[in-house]
Amino acid sequence: MKRYALIDMDGVLYDSMPFHALAWQRMMAEQGIDTDRDEFFLYEGMTGKATVDLIFQRELGRHATDEEALRLYRRKADIFVEMGEKRKMPGAGRMLSVLMERGIGRVLVTGSAQHSLLDRLDMDYPGAFPAGKRVTALDVTHGKPDPEPYLKGLEKAGVKSDEAFVIENAPLGVRAGKAAGLFTIAVTTGPIPREAFEREGADLIFPSMDAFADALPELLERI
Ligand code: CA
Repeated sequence: MKRYALIDMDGVLYDSMPFHALAWQRMMAEQGIDTDRDEFFLYEGMTGKATVDLIFQRELGRHATDEEALRLYRRKADIFVEMGEKRKMPGAGRMLSVLMERGIGRVLVTGSAQHSLLDRLDMDYPGAFPAGKRVTALDVTHGKPDPEPYLKGLEKAGVKSDEAFVIENAPLGVRAGKAAGLFTIAVTTGPIPREAFEREGADLIFPSMDAFADALPELLERI
């Protein structure tokens, strides 16, 4: 019986990933570095610093300095905000309502430090994530795929690993959830094929948030 859901934000609660990917690509283009927009879906969950460093190592053959990583991640975040308001993921409100109605606790577990979205959570999903039940980039040293964010989430929930489950949309997020010893559900809300989530060992895979919300009441009876 699960008592807590550990819930990712980008690509789960907000349909924000296409904007993140485009913001990364544009920021890198400003640096004279060509990237493929869709590759950033694969890095989803990593810290901004780790993502900058990955591209620098590949394209420039060296690590990014802390100063560069910070400056470029801030620039990417500014571009993301300039793109305007991000819509809620269709089905996410319904998914949270099912959890709340059934007394399943919720902890937000995101690698993001993006205040434009974090500040909107209370308005967009009232009561879903109480104060003290949020793990963000500010709380962790290692981003996903390290298990640290989900282990911190378990701590905040105050339950054991077999009493909680993860809701993720990114392969590296699934890897982090599994590494933390958690039952991990993948919802494929972006362009990444189902096989990538199978490879990471996702326990269940749903093709959309609406499909997951539909299945959730019955699912909670058996996981
Ligand atoms: Ca995500």
